[in-house]
Formats: sequence, structure tokens, C-alpha cells
Amino acid sequence: MIHKVENFTAKDGFGTRAVHAGQPTDPLTGSLIPPLYLTSTFALDAEDIDTLAQGRNLPPEQYMYGRTSNPTQHAFEVKMAALENCEAALSVASGMSAISLALLATLSSGDHLIVWRCIYGHAFEFIEGYLPKMGVEVAWVDELTPAALSAAARPNTKAIYLETISNPCMQIPDLQAVSDWAKPRGITTIIDNTLASPALCQPRQFGMDIIVHSATKYIGGHGDALGGVLLGDHQFVQSVRNGWYKYLGPVPSPFSCWLFNRGLKSLYARIARHCESANAIANFLHNHPAVARVNYPGLADSPDYAACQRYLSSPPAILSFSLKGGAFAANQVMKNIRLATVALSLGDADTLISHPASMSHRGVPADIRLQSGVDDGLLRLSVGLEDAADLIGDLTTVLDEVNLKDKHSA
Ligand SMILES: *Cc1c(COP(=O)(O)O)cnc(C)c1O
Repeated sequence: MIHKVENFTAKDGFGTRAVHAGQPTDPLTGSLIPPLYLTSTFALDAEDIDTLAQGRNLPPEQYMYGRTSNPTQHAFEVKMAALENCEAALSVASGMSAISLALLATLSSGDHLIVWRCIYGHAFEFIEGYLPKMGVEVAWVDELTPAALSAAARPNTKAIYLETISNPCMQIPDLQAVSDWAKPRGITTIIDNTLASPALCQPRQFGMDIIVHSATKYIGGHGDALGGVLLGDHQFVQSVRNGWYKYLGPVPSPFSCWLFNRGLKSLYARIARHCESANAIANFLHNHPAVARVNYPGLADSPDYAACQRYLSSPPAILSFSLKGGAFAANQVMKNIRLATVALSLGDADTLISHPASMSHRGVPADIRLQSGVDDGLLRLSVGLEDAADLIGDLTTVLDEVNLKDKHSA
């Protein structure tokens, strides 16, 4: 049997690393794909028994119990670390557990956190509702410019929390400016890279310290598993694994990790297709009379066009657009569209559409919601892997109908 050891290098391209990283040949069977290890614990041999009897620790890479590590999870972690250019990764049960663990492990009572206002709703709720109870002070900023960061900073500022692409308005912060500001001050940067996926942006390249993902989205890519991953240097990731992770226990199912590994192999090819279609749809929407505004940083007139060119390898696979007919028109589109499923989540093979004002952002007070661009006519579209021509044909049918109604009521 041929035993293949890890055969990728950090210099290999993204697609190559996505296929090969985390995949040494299984020494027992030669299995090409890392096997799915559905086990809660691992047998100890005579040497291990003696090591423990002598009061010594087993080597850190040895599997002992499923709450801290499992070989199928490990394969996923190696692949993710290779793709994000990070030293280490920790797989977790959901994107939210990656976010809360990163924050809990970084912050202590008495620390101050600066947070971008445009973040994922449940991250917003956790930071606003729970961190202050634990003695962490929070400052919300609308912009991530050095001037805004300096104005928000205090002597006890410990970390900044942001996202690569905001949801649902698709703003892209100046990542390098944020890390250039934070690094000399010893402030840790934590970024949620879910909407970009590692295929479009690797925030480590721009100086970010800790990266979190919902693997539920593009990494899995098929809408069939929940999970997350947290990345950083060895020391940080080990401290999480041996700390909050061990005690809170947000362990992903090995089966989910097996699906994420499988998803990552084709991420490169999937994302290219997702993005190509999203770009075509954004341009179509931009020219449709029923549409008031399209939020897509790939459009030349987008305020985020320059940041998109600089930080993403392609404009993203997701967009939002606001209808002139407001809430009524948005409601009609959701009820009549054929190929987009009305659902939360994103990054699936299936195109998904949602109405942020009544769904993801329903808890946000109306004035704040409108100020941040989430008006009643806004729809978010996660562009799937259907043929772009079919998606555009479907949108044409529903939007032409909406446009006729707009004209009638005008
Ligand atoms: C979905 C999502 C999350 C949460 O991920 P779960 O896997 O649902 O816990 C966090 N951040 C962003 C940007 C997301 O889209």
C-alpha cells in the first residue's frame, strides 16, 4: 500500500491546496479520502498507560477523547488552515460558536472592544447583550477609518471585531488600514470572513489576527450541515481548544466535518460560478426599472468598488437590491419567484432570497435599520449554481410584473 504524506506546499495555488491539504493517505487502508471517524473516544495502549501512570502528558497530537479532537475534524482543520494561510484552526459546531469562542478567549473583564456596526445579527446580540454583563465595555463604530478607531479607542481597548463583507449591504472595510492601526497598539483584530469565503479573501494577508467562519455557508456549500471554524496562530488556537472549547463543548459532528472537507474541495470551482452569475444578475438588476438600488461591490458605481478590487479576488457571490415598490413589491417577488427559495442562510447550491427588514433585521429598531440601508423594499439574494440565464429569466418575469403594478399605482 502506498502511504502518501501531506503533499501540498504553502506556495501551491488555492485550488491545489483545497484538494490536497489535510489528506495524507490513511495508513490503515490507503483510503484516498480521510475516513469518517464516528467515535467518541480512543483506545490507549501499554505505552500510554505507563506515560499517564508516571504522571506525564500524552503528546498533544494524540487523540484521547472526542470533546477536544477527532481525526475527521483534524483533516478539516488542516485544510482550512492551509486555505486561510493561518498556523492553526479549530472546528466548531456553528459559525456562532466560532464567533463567541473567539471573543470569550480574547476578552476579559475590564477590557474594551471596538465593533463595526454592520455585523451579523446574532453576533450583534451576543456582543451587545452578553459581553457587558461579563465586564467587557463595547464601543460601536459606523466606520473603520483610523480616525474613527482612534476616537473610539481607550487605554483598555483589547480587540476590534469586523466582517470582510457586511450583510446585507455588502460594504467592504479597508482591512489593511484597520490592521495598520491596530498592530502597533497591540490590539487584536477578529474578522468574520463568512461572506467572502477563503476563496475570495484571506484576511491574514492583510494583517488580521483571528479569523472566524460559518462553515454552514460557502465552505459546506450545499445547505446540509451546520458548523464553524476559528483560525489564528498555534498559541491562540491551542488556548481556545484547551479552554473555553473544552468547557463549553461546541464540538462539531465528525460527519459535518467530513462534509465540509468535501465541500472545500470544490469551493474554488463553485465560487467562480457563483460569482460569475452574481455579477450578471447585479448588472441585470442595475438596469431594471423596478429596482431602485443594487448593493454589489462589483458594480463600477458602488462606493465599495475600490475596496472590492483591493481585498477580494472577485466581486462576491451575494448581493442585495431595493425595490421601488417597497415592502409590497418585495413581498410579491418572494411569493412569485420560481427558482429562488425564500430562506435564511447563504452560500448554497440553491439560490436563496430573503427580506432583511422582516427576517434577519426584524429586531433592529426601524430608524437604525433604515439608516444602515435596510429599507422595506430590500431583498438579499445568495446566488446559487443554477444557470444564470434561468435565474435572470425568472427575475425578469417577477420584476416586470412588479414594475407594471408600480406604474398602476403611480
Ligand atoms: C450565518 C452566519 C453566521 C452564523 O453562522 P451559523 O453557522 O449559523 O452559526 C455568522 N456570520 C455570518 C456572516 C453569517 O452569515
